[in-house]
Amino acid sequence: MVEKNNFLEITKARNGQGLFLKKDINLNQKILRLEGDYFEVEIEPTLSEEVIANSVRYNKDIYLDTTKSYSKYLNHSCMPNSYILKEGEHLFLVALDKINSGEELTIDYSTIIALDDFWKMDCNCGEINCRHKIGNWTTLPKDIFKKYTDRRMIPEYILEI
Ligand SMILES: [Zn+2]
Repeated sequence: MVEKNNFLEITKARNGQGLFLKKDINLNQKILRLEGDYFEVEIEPTLSEEVIANSVRYNKDIYLDTTKSYSKYLNHSCMPNSYILKEGEHLFLVALDKINSGEELTIDYSTIIALDDFWKMDCNCGEINCRHKIGNWTTLPKDIFKKYTDRRMIPEYILEI
């Protein structure tokens, strides 16, 4: 992994592998600074499927390739316990709640999918509020969107693209 971290581990999750905590984390604590290579949207057709599937939007024109990052293993949940925050030049994974050691870290992918991203997936996260079809932030139900924006879980730059 490109990040140095001694309290994260990658292990078996509900669907494939996931990112798990090895210590308790407090509400609003930064868990990880996402690292990787940055690339422009225009060169996307030349990239591998793996890179495209594991990239995080950084701004209107640039994505962050997370294939060598812990965040590659960050699964989606319709009831996430963390979210992505852009602070200064960096993207961070931040705890939405107190999270206990042994728990899997999840984000809601819709919070980092911009209006011009056509990426979609089917979800079977197993949560009671599972939306089953996951798309960009405009596909969020009104009440969820309000909850997420109230808690600043959708980065400003995603809403502005
Ligand atoms: Zn779900």
